[in-house]
Amino acid sequence: MLPKFSYVRPNTLENSISQLQAEGAALHAGGTDLLGCLREKIIHSEILVSISGLNELSGIRETAGGELRIGALTTITEIGESQLIKEKYPGLALAAAEVASPQLRNQGTIGGNLCQKPRCWYYRGEFDCLRKGGDKCFALNGENQFHAIFGHDFICAITHPSDTAPILVALDAEVLVTGPQGERTIVVADLHVLPADNVQAETVLDRGEIITHIRIPPPPRGLYTSYRKIRARQSWDFALAGAALALTMEGGRVSRAAVVLSGAAPIPWRSREAEQALTGKPLSGETIAAAAQAAVADAKPLRANDYKIAMFRGMLEEELHKARTAA
Ligand SMILES: Cc1cc2nc3c(=O)[nH]c(=O)nc-3n(C[C@H](O)[C@H](O)[C@H](O)COP(=O)(O)OP(=O)(O)OC[C@H]3O[C@@H](n4cnc5c(N)ncnc54)[C@H](O)[C@@H]3O)c2cc1C
Ligand code: SF4
Repeated sequence: MLPKFSYVRPNTLENSISQLQAEGAALHAGGTDLLGCLREKIIHSEILVSISGLNELSGIRETAGGELRIGALTTITEIGESQLIKEKYPGLALAAAEVASPQLRNQGTIGGNLCQKPRCWYYRGEFDCLRKGGDKCFALNGENQFHAIFGHDFICAITHPSDTAPILVALDAEVLVTGPQGERTIVVADLHVLPADNVQAETVLDRGEIITHIRIPPPPRGLYTSYRKIRARQSWDFALAGAALALTMEGGRVSRAAVVLSGAAPIPWRSREAEQALTGKPLSGETIAAAAQAAVADAKPLRANDYKIAMFRGMLEEELHKARTAA
């Protein structure tokens, strides 16, 4: 059952920030994750501060310099259906189309997608695990078939739930943030937190800080982007294994490679090993096999999720072959 809370809907950014500084206040955008978190007692809040009245935080626009600015309240549907995004960064449109169900995409926002809480069934269930302030991770020696194979450091093995974050990392996107101390910019690659740094935080945002926009640099000539997601069932589900690619091709070779995995680690997981195996090389069958192997070479699977190693390797090979055909 949902606990009791009061609901405010300020109509300025300043007022929203000030309301969010109250003890027990939580930011409400589309509410598709937040209300579940309140019900599951992951977030305890007596005051929901809705930012849905801040019209300046909606919409997608291209600046004169060719960068893209997406308001944090833009819905996942709008991103998936945007002609501009399909043309400039098709991988982002593909990722948005993979999120949840049509109803959730209509209601869910890109800001909320980046800041949502993880889906570990112990955490969402009645277990006082480490992430909830308890003293143990139940997944490490428990039911961990959907958990992380990278970056858990045997502390907390959540997988980062967002489908849009990996491709935004691959595209060198930034979030523009406004809070009690003013404005700041954070590259999406630095937005999320590893358990070894803080097991109870998902993002580096401070109390009262609001993501207002996402900024994506102009696409370089020869950019190829994609997003692929494997899930346990065909209806809505989170990624078992996923990959975002942003490859820049120049003269038949990969001049820059970004390979970011989802369903792999507590944060969108950048595979520097795969990127290194691709950079400066033509996309030959040999390069592709070496990159896919390099991506999983340092995996640290748990008892029940070593199947993910072959899954990531095979999926990356397929996705890189598609990139080769398109190049
Ligand atoms: C059944 C179900 C299936 C789902 N499947 C997927 C999936 O396949 N892939 C996927 O990526 N996601 C999935 N989601 C997760 C998520 O609900 C959506 O992705 C959605 O985009 C979240 O956006 P929202 O606006 O509803 O966020 P909210 O629920 O309003 O907020 C989520 C969190 O983000 C914070 N927040 C929201 N906006 C901002 C902002 N601008 N600045 C700072 N903090 C902010 C909130 O305080 C809250 O903690 C699923 C959710 C459900 C319930
Ligand atoms: S993986 Fe993380 S969220 Fe899940 S039980 Fe372990 S500490 Fe809790």
